[in-house]
Amino acid sequence: MVVGNVCVGGDAPVVVQSMTNTDTADVAASVEQVRQLAEAGSELVRLTVNNAASARAIVTIRERLDALGCAVPLVGDFHFNGHRLLEAVPECAQALAKLRINPGNVGFGQKRDDQFLQMIEQAMRWEKPVRIGVNWGSLDQQLLARMMDENARRKEPWSARALLREALVVSALENAQAAMAAGLPAEKIILSCKVSEVQDLIAVYRSLAQRTDLALHLGLTEAGMGSKGIVASSAALAVLLQEGIGDTIRISLTPEPGQPRTQEVVVAQELLQTMGLRAFVPLVTACPGCGRTTSSYFQELAQQIQQHVRAQMPRWRQVYPGVENLSLAVMGCVVNGPGESKHADIGISLPGTGETPAAPVFVEGKKVATLKGEGIAERFIEMVDDYVARRYGGQVSGQ
Ligand code: SF4
Repeated sequence: MVVGNVCVGGDAPVVVQSMTNTDTADVAASVEQVRQLAEAGSELVRLTVNNAASARAIVTIRERLDALGCAVPLVGDFHFNGHRLLEAVPECAQALAKLRINPGNVGFGQKRDDQFLQMIEQAMRWEKPVRIGVNWGSLDQQLLARMMDENARRKEPWSARALLREALVVSALENAQAAMAAGLPAEKIILSCKVSEVQDLIAVYRSLAQRTDLALHLGLTEAGMGSKGIVASSAALAVLLQEGIGDTIRISLTPEPGQPRTQEVVVAQELLQTMGLRAFVPLVTACPGCGRTTSSYFQELAQQIQQHVRAQMPRWRQVYPGVENLSLAVMGCVVNGPGESKHADIGISLPGTGETPAAPVFVEGKKVATLKGEGIAERFIEMVDDYVARRYGGQVSGQ
């Protein structure tokens, strides 16, 4: 399927998605955050649409992003009143590239079904794909009650956890069936089942993947803050991605105070890139350091290089196609430094404690320079820039 300007599902590469945390009705703040997320590499950006002001704001946000040359597709996140908002502000649906509906949050009983179908009709009217996103914090309670009754009649009832996992999968599949019965084509449906525990996510998505060919969005919900959120999300998603499960991903990190929202995009990209599934930004291999490196100089250089490369990427992406595949190495001493640096496209091996104060630089496996004295970092960055320009600027062939 095509979501805005992005292909999703089938053989298309796994797509990185993110979500804003601004008040959507605050157009200026939302535009700025969407722009930052897109610049960091988010290929789809979701915004909450929870009231009339935010529904109207979506239209202006789209216009302003277009005026800025930022074409990133926007996804609208609808819950309890989505059916009313889409009816009242049709321009909102038009401005969005995809609608996300959580069927556990659209009402109860017959009302629930009607309101869910009203949203599906709006999606069909404007030819928009829909993510049917089930979340275990808002699982359809009627469905759960029905399945608990069925479970009670089993000779050997399932555990509460197994039942909950199955209820999530059934909820996603039944709602997808209802949407298709209403006329929404399968190629316009993405499913997600968000849970907050790694083993639950893996089990639920394996089950989903066995039971449907619909596109799947992966994400560990409420993954948490800092390294806990990154590790938990990566652990869960890596297992599934390795099995070929997942068409779009989001890393739901709680930003640490003062940290940018874009971190979730960086983590998603690094997960896909370190798994060899996609390439976004040149990666820097750096050794962890040990007793042979008594200063933090090489850590600082590794950080400087990684930051430099990320900062250059918006321009490099335009003028140096393929640069995302570049590999760099910053190593701390002679033990593994020259070897690892030779494996990278361009690498530097800094002197460890007690070694001659000289840093050999390797390009494509060959030593091309030895940097000494002040300004090693600046000179190495210059060499990286020159190499990128020569290799990806079309001046060097056969690479
Ligand atoms: S390359 Fe040298 S400094 Fe880095 S971890 Fe290995 S032995 Fe330690």
